[in-house]
Amino acid sequence: MATLYCQYKALNAVAWRKCEPVVMEASADTTTITTSPCTLAGRIAFVTGGGSGIGRACCQVLAREGARLVVTDINLQAAKHTLTLLPGGQQHVAVAMDVSDRRSVEDTMKSAQDQCGAPPSLLVNCAGVSTFASILDDDSWQKIIAVNLTGVFLVTQAFARSLLENGRDSKGAVVNIASILGKTGFAEMSGYTASKGGVISLTKTCAAELASKAIRVNCVLPGLIDTPMTAAVGEENIKKVMPLITLGRSGRPEEVAEVVAFLLSERSSYMVGACVEVTGGYGM
Ligand code: NAP
Repeated sequence: MATLYCQYKALNAVAWRKCEPVVMEASADTTTITTSPCTLAGRIAFVTGGGSGIGRACCQVLAREGARLVVTDINLQAAKHTLTLLPGGQQHVAVAMDVSDRRSVEDTMKSAQDQCGAPPSLLVNCAGVSTFASILDDDSWQKIIAVNLTGVFLVTQAFARSLLENGRDSKGAVVNIASILGKTGFAEMSGYTASKGGVISLTKTCAAELASKAIRVNCVLPGLIDTPMTAAVGEENIKKVMPLITLGRSGRPEEVAEVVAFLLSERSSYMVGACVEVTGGYGM
């Protein structure tokens, strides 16, 4: 019988730091698979909304995987606080950036490149806002679309331009944080759900266009995740959603971040334009 073993011991802290490859041998008559535990070592990762919730967890997981972080957020103090939570704190940078403002985005991408000595090759579009209001009297549409959808467009454009113009090794990966609500819709969240549906289709268009330029684009559709954004949703709405979650609980930000890290790494090298649901079963 085929014996499958993985050198788990090679995944200890020492091997992690040295970036030694892990060899998984299935058996003499099957392929030997070689992979590296340091999936993102040496990469520069640009994260929007990195000062809170899922964005902050992404920064923590990506730093653990060896990436150098450019933590951006509209709230500079929050981004700076994220820096204090990252291993290898000195190498990471925090920058204030409004994703809905083209000038802010372009200036920040340039300053990230200047500070890091190379353009970022990994991008997580996570910044977002949400509100509850009936379609009959919702006046938050413009703001939500500007941040959640136009923001993803502007940052992806600046990222791809910078990487393709200045990257020595222009291989890149982008993960957009959409939402399962972009697929299912949700009463009294017209702007939010439309913006996230837009992010899903924008992901696929960017994926189709940038794959030939060695930039993979995918997205994650989180369900109900415990963050400051959900805290603002209110207990009443959370009570309505909870019975619809197959696992019967909300998710933790790091449960989304682990999937983001996978999608940014070469471990997902054959994934392009995918929408990965991280929902505990909600909306499947
Ligand atoms: P969060 O804790 O509120 O984090 C969002 C961050 O984005 C905050 O730091 C926020 O700053 C920042 N931000 C807001 N507007 C910005 C702008 N114009 N430019 C740059 N940064 C801006 O929310 P989260 O739950 O982690 O959400 C992260 C992403 O996941 C969002 O795109 C959200 O739609 C998506 N998502 C969340 C859930 C969930 O259940 N939590 C589910 C599905 C999808 P301020 O705090 O100062 O506004």
